[in-house]
Amino acid sequence: RRPTVAVVFGGASTEHGVSCLTAAGVVAALDAERYDVVGIGITADGAWLRVAAEDVAALVTVDGRLPTVPPGRPQAVLLPAGDQVVLASREGDRLVEEVVVDVAFTLLHGPYGEDGTIQGMFEMLGLRYVGSGVSASAVSMDKERMKQVLSAAGLPVGPWTSFTAARWAADQSLCLEAVATLGFPVFVKPARGGSSIGITRVDEPSGLVPAVETALAHDPKCVVEKGLVEAREIECGVLDGPAGPETSVVAEIVTRTASGFYDFEAKYLPEEEQVDLLVPAVMEEDVVARVREVAVRTFTAVGAEGLGRVDTFVTRDGQVLVNEINTMPGFTEHSMFPMVWSASGLGYPDLVARLVELALARPLGLR
Ligand code: ADP
Ligand code: MG
Ligand code: MG
Repeated sequence: RRPTVAVVFGGASTEHGVSCLTAAGVVAALDAERYDVVGIGITADGAWLRVAAEDVAALVTVDGRLPTVPPGRPQAVLLPAGDQVVLASREGDRLVEEVVVDVAFTLLHGPYGEDGTIQGMFEMLGLRYVGSGVSASAVSMDKERMKQVLSAAGLPVGPWTSFTAARWAADQSLCLEAVATLGFPVFVKPARGGSSIGITRVDEPSGLVPAVETALAHDPKCVVEKGLVEAREIECGVLDGPAGPETSVVAEIVTRTASGFYDFEAKYLPEEEQVDLLVPAVMEEDVVARVREVAVRTFTAVGAEGLGRVDTFVTRDGQVLVNEINTMPGFTEHSMFPMVWSASGLGYPDLVARLVELALARPLGLR
């Protein structure tokens, strides 16, 4: 029997449309001779729908969103069945269209997808899945926890502070005092976010309060960082291999946005031409080597598995600081992660197959 891959996409996040688009690309790249593929589409209101592999792309081309569940449309469920996991559709009290699933490939970004929650559900079910486990996903999603873990492992991160909405409400001036030690500009971020959503670059004191309020509207915890605006933004792909994590070529992001950083529009509306992705980056070999080393150490420090994209700032004097690791980086064929691997000799279909094979080979339970 060929392994059945369940591609999970959509979700109740701002990145819903991106996820649908990504799923269409991954389904198209999965070799039909080698794998059976089934889609699990999560609608914007949180319902699960079984989507035939050949329908995933059709769903996406409409408006990039899954339809809300039409009344009476059977919803999908995953169930443990002995030492197997079954995907079924629920019609009233009956389960229909049962199929054994061998591995889940989740293409959800942000909270409830990239943060360990769905990974925990797979662990409970005993279902293998692509990418990082519960702890690495949760730590990497939370920019405060990530920096704490990286610092403890001796990895360089820039100056930062953080506070909760409760703390901000209780003593705003104390929070602002901590921020003032960072100087300007600063970057104000929701602790658990992605795609630059809710992030503001603040160049002067008057911008701080609105920026914090924006961040706290997305997440009850806020992280403020010293702006490393003179530094180059350099990203590196990491993939598990037989002899441990391997790195891709490194790439550079050069932005000309009005916001002064790699914002949501620059990430998803590339036709605006506010950003250049240079793959590979033109850099001194020894700096490239240090970025790659920091990327592997970051991947290992958070306990990531399968894949990760490590984003760094390289300062003018050649220091490599970690900005973040993304455990489910943008994964359309034209996203940075597939591009750096393609430039390293691993094309999109091979990348997808490698991730599925890594997941299939991984033992269940504590690793
Ligand atoms: P996300 O997880 O949403 O991608 P990031 O922390 O990567 O959030 O921030 C998004 C972008 O904001 C970065 O790609 C970079 O352009 C800019 N940025 C973030 N933090 C800093 C910083 N401390 N200094 C300079 N630029 C930053
Ligand atoms: Mg991120
Ligand atoms: Mg980022």
